Amino acid sequence: MNKGYPFVLKELPYSYEALDPVLGSDTLHFHHDKHMNAYVGNLNKALESCPDFHKFSLHELLTKLNELPQSAQTAVRNNGGGVYNHELYFSTLTSPNAGTKPSANLQTAIERDFGSLDEMLAQLKQAAVGRFGSGWAYVVTDAKGVLSICSTPNQDVPDLCKFVPLMTVDVWEHAYYLDYQNRRPDYFDAWTGLINWDVVSKNYEDRNF
Ligand code: MN
Repeated sequence: MNKGYPFVLKELPYSYEALDPVLGSDTLHFHHDKHMNAYVGNLNKALESCPDFHKFSLHELLTKLNELPQSAQTAVRNNGGGVYNHELYFSTLTSPNAGTKPSANLQTAIERDFGSLDEMLAQLKQAAVGRFGSGWAYVVTDAKGVLSICSTPNQDVPDLCKFVPLMTVDVWEHAYYLDYQNRRPDYFDAWTGLINWDVVSKNYEDRNF
């Protein structure tokens, strides 16, 4: 995760072709190099005139938004959220044939809180497909390790004081339009084959608040 201002665009942890054919390299170039990059640039622009907050991590900015000058709050919420969400999204993907699995601890929690992995993904799909307009759907954990599903509009993030997002699916059209046009449910189904369960499991084990 980014340390503080000025924020930098995190490189993808794989090549632009790595997610093919689920998500093509054109999608990754536009999504990462253009869309995500714009959130980074606009976050820095919003913080330029707030030197008191240059030491704040992204997590601090998003959990202490109301401490910022009012004139900067909306831009930091939208663009800081955009950076946070995209870092999580891209970091939890891997090649379609990587064959990763949830760790034993995570698998136990999934079965306890949802019944099965398929049921968890079915509930995540409902949140993702049901999100009107642009936004995100997440699997989150609380401090005790209890899992739940949530969704946010625009570039909002879940309440990071109460939850650690383990994984997220971007349901902005820019995430899937080149590959799936308007078919968000098809994008979701294909996206489940890209989940890097090694990273998601580590996010669960660490669950840093
Ligand atoms: Mn996006």
